[in-house]
Amino acid sequence: MSKVYTVGIVGGGISGSVCALELAKYGIDNILLEKGESIVNGPPFCHLHAGGNLYPDISVDQCKTLMLQSIEMLRLFPHSIDQRPTWISVPKSEKYEPEFIEDRLNSLVKYYKKLIAEDPDNEVLGNPDQYYKAYSKEEIEALAKQPGVKQPTTFDEWVSNAVKLIDYQSLKTPIFLVQEFGWNLFRTAAQAQLALEKTESCCIKTDTEVTNIIDVRNRNLDYNWAICTKGSVYNVKYLVNSCGFRTGFIDALLNQHAEHSIEYKAAYIAKWQPVEGLIPELIFHGERGTAHGMLQITPYCEDYYQIHGMTQDITLFENGVIHSKNKESAEEFDEDIKQKIDRAWPEEEINTRTKNAIAFAARYVPTFKSANVGALPMHGAQQLHGNDLSLRVGELSFPGKFYARSEIIKASSALTVARKIVANLENEKIIAQIRTKTKHNSLLEEISKNDIEERARELAIKRGYPGTLSQLVIDRT
Ligand SMILES: Cc1cc2nc3c(=O)[nH]c(=O)nc-3n(C[C@H](O)[C@H](O)[C@H](O)COP(=O)(O)OP(=O)(O)OC[C@H]3O[C@@H](n4cnc5c(N)ncnc54)[C@H](O)[C@@H]3O)c2cc1C
Repeated sequence: MSKVYTVGIVGGGISGSVCALELAKYGIDNILLEKGESIVNGPPFCHLHAGGNLYPDISVDQCKTLMLQSIEMLRLFPHSIDQRPTWISVPKSEKYEPEFIEDRLNSLVKYYKKLIAEDPDNEVLGNPDQYYKAYSKEEIEALAKQPGVKQPTTFDEWVSNAVKLIDYQSLKTPIFLVQEFGWNLFRTAAQAQLALEKTESCCIKTDTEVTNIIDVRNRNLDYNWAICTKGSVYNVKYLVNSCGFRTGFIDALLNQHAEHSIEYKAAYIAKWQPVEGLIPELIFHGERGTAHGMLQITPYCEDYYQIHGMTQDITLFENGVIHSKNKESAEEFDEDIKQKIDRAWPEEEINTRTKNAIAFAARYVPTFKSANVGALPMHGAQQLHGNDLSLRVGELSFPGKFYARSEIIKASSALTVARKIVANLENEKIIAQIRTKTKHNSLLEEISKNDIEERARELAIKRGYPGTLSQLVIDRT
């Protein structure tokens, strides 16, 4: 008789992988089915979003949720977090004032202090009184005259290095430096995969595409779903659909109807000449989808920089958003985007779009115009529940008994989703109540930093990127 797994997880992106880890931590046996060669190989992530400061248009509540979820993920994957700060500025061309950002930052400081009071181990974004610093015009001008520092350690040193490169006259003041960190996708993928490979509670199957799911909930068997792949069938009691933007494909197999939106986006990798000292992540706010959309410049090691430009000819695409009620969503993108999703970007377009991104970055960082195309774009499609594209905190839904559907918008929501699934397993009496729930995951903690680094480098290279993109600019672990 074939084995019955307690949980079958379809899709090994960050959501499915963190769910498998959370279940395995409590000894709940599960099978993780991922069609790609390795896990956490979906759309990219590079910002932790601990405070949501990249989104002036979202509510303070969403910012707080992002902060809490980011802290929890940072505690799980500390070796993946790039602890360089973020410069946040509003160009003079924008209609809103930076004071608005400052009000939110003050609410976040209070909230961060509350989280630390609840659990001192939450103090992972530095001292809460130094979560951010606001810089006036006079302070910026004074720091521009200071000598550069190769390895900045104070906020002032980071700002001093940045301001020498930035056309700060085009920006409103105050300008902020915030403890918003980077998040390295390759290192997270490496740590998650190494931990799942070691545990007996998870059967991890990569290169395994789910082609059908048979609902046997009414047949009085000791399982509720038969998950079919080419050549094998896996019987499970509880089904988790974490297929990212292909979540609708599984829904369609199960005759579920859910409204969702899918967006395809890309970020570009440029190589710049060595600059005098390290610089923070640089954010120049702007109205999404217009010619002056937000610009983000993310530093990596060895003079690589990633650029997002929220305009139609850089990060966004003319037919890049679809609203779907069901069905395999990828089918609904036009041919051009479908081809890119399969990672076959035409060489010419890599060059054109990366060069557009470089020119866009040079608006505020003039010497960036000398940068060149550095690597393949980081790209992918992501799904959100309903049709509100400004939503930043994701959803978990239970469309039927013994069935959970994950639709996260930011990678940091993965642990919240996993915990809700554990609670639902208890409520549905699939598992007994867990007496003591912990925040730690010893499966992840047992993986050494060296092993993570080695595997992360291998993954980056296998996926077609320079190995150096798996390194951290500031590693405090
Ligand atoms: C350009 C861009 C930049 C982004 N930057 C950030 C950022 O800085 N920070 C952040 O937090 N978030 C960011 N995001 C969002 C983030 O990437 C997503 O929220 C996150 O990856 C979603 O994770 P997921 O596990 O739900 O889905 P995915 O990562 O898409 O994983 C789904 C998995 O399911 C697998 N799958 C699908 N169908 C099947 C099947 N039939 N059988 C088996 N396996 C299947 C897929 O191969 C895939 O591995 C960004 C997104 C984009 C597009």
